Amino acid sequence: MKVHVLLGPPGSGKGTQAKQLVESLPLIHLSTGDILRDAVSKETELGLRVKADMAGGKLVDDNTVNGIVFARLQDETGDVLFDGYPRTLSQAESLQTFLSSQGITLGLVVDIEIQEHELEMRVVNRRVCSNNSCGEIYNLNTKAPRVEGICDLCGSPLKHRSDDTPQALHSRLAEFNKTFEPLQGYYKGTPNYRYVEGNRPPEQIHDRLVQLFQEQI
Ligand code: AMP
Repeated sequence: MKVHVLLGPPGSGKGTQAKQLVESLPLIHLSTGDILRDAVSKETELGLRVKADMAGGKLVDDNTVNGIVFARLQDETGDVLFDGYPRTLSQAESLQTFLSSQGITLGLVVDIEIQEHELEMRVVNRRVCSNNSCGEIYNLNTKAPRVEGICDLCGSPLKHRSDDTPQALHSRLAEFNKTFEPLQGYYKGTPNYRYVEGNRPPEQIHDRLVQLFQEQI
């Protein structure tokens, strides 16, 4: 079993790319953002605890997120693709300790880089399917649904994430910029690290990612 990691700022297309990759490659998509949003919408104890941080674009504490991830990894047997985890150096170090203790191999760490000014337009125009088991991601400019406000795949209403406002994006980017450099530094220079230019049409990024992962799987 291997785990792979997608790195990149909010709005860089990690989620969209991860969802498409798992359709064509034998990988299990694990998005900490999706798991936490699901907990918030179900108002579980975890959801109630993390709700305010998430709405304000703040990171949830490392122990909470590591706990969720390690519990999930213990249940999985196939190769996993992380989207949105690890987000801090401390999470990356804890993940490595956990993987070593379980005999799990770290696969690729793919860094999707994109200019900051691109992100606001992407995030403000992002709409996601409100049905958590579908979760399809749209963009009103570049990938609009066929019927306004309705998911093409499952017919559920689309929603605008509460942290996809310019204000919350600002906090999320501030958090990202604070934590990203040490995280990137941890992986950069290792044989696992790959860089992908994110300011390109999503199909081109997808093709590049497929190529990278096919060499690894
Ligand atoms: P995302 O869907 O990846 O943009 O994550 C949405 C929100 O969930 C983030 O702004 C954080 O509040 C929280 N979150 C997701 N993943 C993590 C993580 N690895 N560490 C801390 N907070 C996270």
